Order: sequence, then structure tokens, then C-alpha cells
Amino acid sequence: MTGQERLPGAPFLQRRGAELFLDGVRLADLARAHGTPLYVYSRGAMRAAANAYSQAFDGRPHLLCYAMKANSNLAVLKTFADLGWGFDIVSGGELERVLAIGADPAKVVFSGVGKRAAEIRRALAVGVHCFNVESEPELELLSTLASAAGKVAAISLRVNPDVDAQTHPYISTGLKGNKFGVAHGQAVAVYRRAAALPGIAVVGIDCHIGSQITTIAPYLDALDRLLDLVTQIEAHGIAIQHIDLGGGLGITYTDETPPDAGELVRSVWAKLDGRGQGHRKLLMEPGRSLVGNAGVLLTEVLVQKRGEAKNFCIVDAAMNDLVRPAMYQAWLGIVPCTLGDPADPADMPGQVWDVVGPVCESGDWLGRDRELAVKPGDLLAVLSAGAYAMSMASNYNTRPRAAEVMVDNGASALVRHRETAAELFAGEQTWT
Ligand SMILES: *Cc1c(COP(=O)(O)O)cnc(C)c1O
Repeated sequence: MTGQERLPGAPFLQRRGAELFLDGVRLADLARAHGTPLYVYSRGAMRAAANAYSQAFDGRPHLLCYAMKANSNLAVLKTFADLGWGFDIVSGGELERVLAIGADPAKVVFSGVGKRAAEIRRALAVGVHCFNVESEPELELLSTLASAAGKVAAISLRVNPDVDAQTHPYISTGLKGNKFGVAHGQAVAVYRRAAALPGIAVVGIDCHIGSQITTIAPYLDALDRLLDLVTQIEAHGIAIQHIDLGGGLGITYTDETPPDAGELVRSVWAKLDGRGQGHRKLLMEPGRSLVGNAGVLLTEVLVQKRGEAKNFCIVDAAMNDLVRPAMYQAWLGIVPCTLGDPADPADMPGQVWDVVGPVCESGDWLGRDRELAVKPGDLLAVLSAGAYAMSMASNYNTRPRAAEVMVDNGASALVRHRETAAELFAGEQTWT
């Protein structure tokens, strides 16, 4: 059993004897101390993932921005800020998180297809590095707001390069039919408009073609398309100082074999060098690949139900805690925190279960057809749960959101307390 178990968070996630450890901490101990459902993140794993990017830049001009929508817990953000990373944000709320940890707003890129005036004003006031602008009306609004504030807004246009990232349709963002960015064919005209606006300073070009991308080719295709534009834009006397390739590198959930960050970055530089563009400053905005396999979600088995067609293992984590299976049919590893005794019939070895939560929806499942030797009261770890998990959690069914713990080399700290029911309706009142 131990030998065949797949642990995508290795080496930080490890089986030692019967027990599962993350970054040197026994997960069953954390579940007992803090209750379940419980998110646990390895700081060591996050640092290692970040260093894989930054080391590959090897003295080249660059800015790395963690796309915080993947996991925006303040302790996670601080981990990356301490390594010198900036942030990719998609809302005013995310900007407040940057400020809350005392990180430098001058290393923030503000992405997003629909920015509100109040969010733009705040970003101008604190001084973000760059607005990644997604449409001509946004450009006009930004110019007006910047001029009114006596500022000039640094911008990149997010160009839609029309390349297929070959990922799930909901997380593919660089195709003609997607809502994101300015069409490749319109980009030069919009850049010329940008250069003429008083409140705008063009600094770069940007794209982001999707998420959970497991090959390098779509990045190189997108880069080729951007470089063609850079030539045309600069021919109009508009200087492009940086190229932002977005995020999107995939991780291993089951048997995917994405390139590692270093491989991706080196291929990108090779392409830039090959096209005589090796002097450019490069920005990247990874999210999932920094945190996805650094986290697990711990949950307790509540009840087991044997049905006519299926056996259900009902656990205390649900789609409100982790929506990726329900939303994207995502496959996440699920393993016991403590292995049962294969000879003990009480552990029901060899049984196949649908692992489901208590929420009143048939879409509320975490894993289907999983062979697990478990009984009520046992603890399970849902793997690869560091990205797009807690950050997408909701309070559906008035379920308080899970607590979050960070672990680092054998030590642990609670980094978000478990919500209470009273907190959930604290902003509500009755009307008589
Ligand atoms: C979501 C997002 C990212 C990060 O994507 P990952 O797949 O998590 O790496 C980067 N840039 C933008 C604009 C995004 O919307």
C-alpha cells in the first residue's frame, strides 16, 4: 500500500509508517488539535516552488508576481513577499491584502476584465506597478481617473493571442471566444490610442492564456504572437519595456506531467534570445504551480452508506470548502491520514466509495469510485488542495469556512481561525 501510494506533494508530503506528514508535521495531530475540515499548507513547499522560478531567471531582468487568487491567505502572501515576489491581483480586495501584510504595491500588477472606478482610484493612490488593461473603454476610464488624480497610469494591454492552451474550457482564456483581453488584430490600434491618452504611459504587453497548462508549446506560441506585436507597436514609436507571459503552469494531480518552472522559464528565454529579444524584462504571474501541491484538506469520515448502485463515504468537508470537483470535474487524490490495518475487517479494505460532503446537492462530491479502507471517525487528506480551494470556499448551507494551518519544517501555526456561525450572519438583520 505504502509503496504504491501516489503523493503529488512529495517530498514535503510523506508517508512515514502508517502516518501522513506534511513538512515534518503529522497531519492527524493537526486535525485533532484544530478540528476538521482543516486546510494545511507547507511553507517549505511554497518556497521551493517559488525558488524554482526565480533561480531560472538567473540575473535576467524580471518581476515575479504571485497570482493570489489561487490562495490569498495572508500567511501565504507573506511567504512570497519575503522572497521578494510581487503580486498579480484581480480586485480591490486583493490589493487590500497586499497592503495588510505591508508588501510593496510597486510590485503589483492589476489584472481583471472589469475593474471598478473605486478600485482603480485606490490602485493609483497606492501606486501599483502596472495596470493590465483588457479593453479600450477601460483604457479611457483609467486615463480619466489618472488625470483627475494628477497621475499617469502605467499600463500593459492584455492581448488575446488566440492560442489553445489545451486545458479545461472554463480555465482556457486565450482563445478568440473568451471574454479576456484585446483581440490580437486590434492590439496595435489600441496601443496607439493608449499612447495618445494623457493619463496613460505604455510600459508593457501582457497575456494569460489559461490555467493548468501541462506543456510548454502554448507559451512559446503566445510569446511568438506577442513578439510580432511588439515589433509593430514599436514601429509606431511606442516603447514596450516588459513582456508579461501571465501564469497558468499546471501541476500533477494524478498522472499529469507538466514541465517544471525552470524548464518553462529557460525555454522562454531561449525563444527571446532566438528572436534577438533577450534584453527584454520578463514578468510572470504564476498561481496554482506555487501553492497547489503545497496544501491538503483534512476531513473526517462521518457516515458510510451502502447503496444499491454506489457506496457513499460521507465526510465533513464539502463543495463549499473545495468546489473544484463539482465545478471542473477535477480529480484530487484522497488518502487516509493514518493507514488502516489491511487485515482488520473493521477498516473495510477493498471497498470502493464515492467521497461526498453533507451539502444538499448531488454535485457535492470530492472524489468518485475511490478504493479506501476507512471507517467513521477516520481522517482523510484531500491532496493538491493548496490552490483554488480555500480561496473559492463559500458559506453555502451556512457552513463556516475551514480553519487554515501553515506548517514549516516540523512546526505549525494557525493562520486562519475556523469561522463561527455567528460570524456568518453578523452583517444581517431582520426587518419588522
Ligand atoms: C489566474 C491568473 C493567473 C494565475 O494562473 P495560474 O493558472 O493559477 O497560474 C495569472 N494571471 C492572471 C491574469 C490570472 O487571471
